Amino acid sequence: MQLEDLLKKFREYSAEDTAKLEYAWQFSLDAHTDQKRASGEIYFIHCAAVAEILVDFKMDLETIAAGLMHDVLEDTTVSRDTFRKEFGSEIYELVLGVTKIETLKFSSRDEAQAENWRKMILATAKDIRVIVIKLADRLHNMRTLNFLTQEKQLEISHETLSLYAPLAQRLGIFHVKSELEDLSFKYLHPDEYQDLLAKVQLHFVKREKLLEEFKQGVEKHLGGTQIPHRVLSRAKNIYSIYRKMQKQNLPFEDIQDALGIRIITDNIINCYALLGTVHSIFKPVTGSFTDYIAVPKMNLYRSLHTSVMAPSGEIIEIQIRTEEMHHTSEYGIAAHWRYKLGASGADQHLDEKLNWLRQWMEWLQDLSSPREFIESFKTDLELDQIFIFTPKGDVKALPAGSNPLDFAYAIHSDIGDACIGAKVNNKMAKLDGPLKSGDICEIITRRNSAPKKDWLGIVKTAGARSHIRKYLREHGQLED
Ligand code: MN
Repeated sequence: MQLEDLLKKFREYSAEDTAKLEYAWQFSLDAHTDQKRASGEIYFIHCAAVAEILVDFKMDLETIAAGLMHDVLEDTTVSRDTFRKEFGSEIYELVLGVTKIETLKFSSRDEAQAENWRKMILATAKDIRVIVIKLADRLHNMRTLNFLTQEKQLEISHETLSLYAPLAQRLGIFHVKSELEDLSFKYLHPDEYQDLLAKVQLHFVKREKLLEEFKQGVEKHLGGTQIPHRVLSRAKNIYSIYRKMQKQNLPFEDIQDALGIRIITDNIINCYALLGTVHSIFKPVTGSFTDYIAVPKMNLYRSLHTSVMAPSGEIIEIQIRTEEMHHTSEYGIAAHWRYKLGASGADQHLDEKLNWLRQWMEWLQDLSSPREFIESFKTDLELDQIFIFTPKGDVKALPAGSNPLDFAYAIHSDIGDACIGAKVNNKMAKLDGPLKSGDICEIITRRNSAPKKDWLGIVKTAGARSHIRKYLREHGQLED
């Protein structure tokens, strides 16, 4: 990828002045000048590739500039001060966010832990664009994973499958989710992957003919009506087929898999016109029509869905949508990026919290049931949660304001009861000092030590308080 190509792609959807982007390109190229990738290529190739992925997402200029420079703070001698001075706080914060996520080391193979990690990554990022950059970074690393040792390949694939693919899914970036899954699967289960890939490809060849018939039928019927359209057959997500086989305990041949087709056109009226055309050529399957244009899904997904019967008797699932709807469905929240921080000097902390909410609120426009959406969002990401590590790297979610004593009880009530002190980030700390997300907290215990009455005034969590009360009551130190 050359700078000119990047700028050209960017200008296709943005009128912003690209001077900053050009400077970011040169800055990153210079900063990484002596570094090489495992492939032997110059390191900057990776930075340019990440920026290219972000341009394909149609992200804003700041995000692409940050993508070009996403490894500058971590891997080069450029200081934070210099960087902030050169590029301003918005780009600086984005790169800093990516750098912070980079330093979180995910080690556990426990699914419950993975969920906490995903939440923590979301909370650490603060700005959705940080996650999008991180996903682009991971995507390119996965695409070039063959240059690393097998041990590294397995480690990174595992992390990708349990953390980053689900994050991509949560943000609705399905196309990245599928690619991350398939690449991870390829390294984690190479034999199953190759076997399934061969079967899917063979299957695909058979289906090509059917697809061709379908296209010709539509073209013929449209004749001179000039409705712009293109027909795509849906990409296969090998890993999702694999999971389906595992779940249903069925061989590939028995997995129900209708031929999926997408028709993309220019505007909503033509979506309905194409639907009419399709229904007039092929017999629709009763009850299969769903209008997600008139009634979008909660995540703002829009399309017309229908299933029809091909002359050969096969069922074809059809999605009809505009280019814009197609972009949204492929790129999810990244496609909806319109948010800019207001220039007001408002409460910074509040702003951080609202930041997330605002982005999601954009998705709420025109939805029939925003309450349900907010509820699901709240369980997804508690705004007032902090994430605290044990020295072994396990992570616990606690309410904001929690202290080491709460953390001790969160690990186990016995640890809480026997707690006599704590270290936070390797330094002795007070039991009532508030913790912050990312702190590593070590609880010091002594056998036969017992909860004190004044602890009731220290702990912030209901769980810790009830354990302490229970202990005190059992030992006659507390009357009801
Ligand atoms: Mn990177």
